[in-house]
Amino acid sequence: MCLRVYESQTRKHANTQTRQKMIIQLKKDITNGQLEQLKEKLDGIKYKTNRVDTQFGNYIIGVGKHEFDIRSIGILDGVQDIHRVSDAYKLVSKKWKVNDTIIDLGDGVHIGSGHFQMMTGPCSIESEEQISNTIELLKANNIKIMRGGVYKPRSSPYSFRGLGLDGLKMWYQKAKEAGIKIITEVMMTEQIESMHDYIDIFQVGARNSQNFNLLDALGKVDKPVLLKRGISGTLDELLQAAEYIFSNGNERIMLCERGIRSYEKAYRNTFDINAIAMLKEKTHLPVIADPSHGIGVRKFVEPVALASIMAGADGVIFESHQTPEKAFSDGQQTLNNNEATRLIQKMRKTYALREEMKRM
Ligand code: PEP
Ligand code: MN
Repeated sequence: MCLRVYESQTRKHANTQTRQKMIIQLKKDITNGQLEQLKEKLDGIKYKTNRVDTQFGNYIIGVGKHEFDIRSIGILDGVQDIHRVSDAYKLVSKKWKVNDTIIDLGDGVHIGSGHFQMMTGPCSIESEEQISNTIELLKANNIKIMRGGVYKPRSSPYSFRGLGLDGLKMWYQKAKEAGIKIITEVMMTEQIESMHDYIDIFQVGARNSQNFNLLDALGKVDKPVLLKRGISGTLDELLQAAEYIFSNGNERIMLCERGIRSYEKAYRNTFDINAIAMLKEKTHLPVIADPSHGIGVRKFVEPVALASIMAGADGVIFESHQTPEKAFSDGQQTLNNNEATRLIQKMRKTYALREEMKRM
């Protein structure tokens, strides 16, 4: 190898090795003077900074090359804490936030860190009667969150594409009366505002997992987001997508494993059970499993759901319908009410077993 090339490569390597990233948590009552002093200190060591303000905290993300003693920043007035984070994603990393995030949906419904939640409902919202039937299923099983699509990303433009906002309003009315929370997919930034008052969780689908404009916009809303893994997305890509939402101000994010595309054709997707265990290690955000899209075959939704719980999932979202054979979309992977009830009971048992095993 020519010496010049070798030198430039080693220099590049040395540079990446010395690149430092840090998260500085600011005190709520930090004064302008203290902020100025902190800025001066960071400018002094030539760190680039990004300010992030969320509903829960104020942070400065610093990136630079100089080695320095982090205590010299940690002791500054107005600084709550400082952490080095080597991952490309930062605010969603577990390296600085040891306690897992708990998402509070109100009315005593929590997700994450000891609060296991199940969410079920049809792939698509189809009719008032279908909504009522699903709500009955949820109430009979003490499930608090109903899923359903009103804007459907379909592979073919000729397939059913959802009832839209009118369908969502009808659903909201019935869910609210029953004390049930709503999770539904938002496909475009322009839909956020009109959907906002009728939903409890915005879902970002696999096809929009790296739609950075949508993620930026969801960072500015005061509702939680369930972010699905992209169809061929790596875990790093998923975590960096979540970082978009967090760094725009919304800390209330859940990550969802829903299967990835592989060379295997025997089922719809390859559900990546590894991802659940690995994500629980990498991030403080709750991790949700979607076995329905994960395998895409009704008969196997149950074993995959139970396995995902053992792997560490904080919740499971799955598709159910009173008559799956007649469902407008994804009937082949949808459970009927009896199958859904049985699965819910088995999931509760599996979760209890997992928690018991943690203590062994
Ligand atoms: C869905 O939840 O119905 C859906 C379309 O999921 P995904 O984005 O994972 O395909
Ligand atoms: Mn579906």
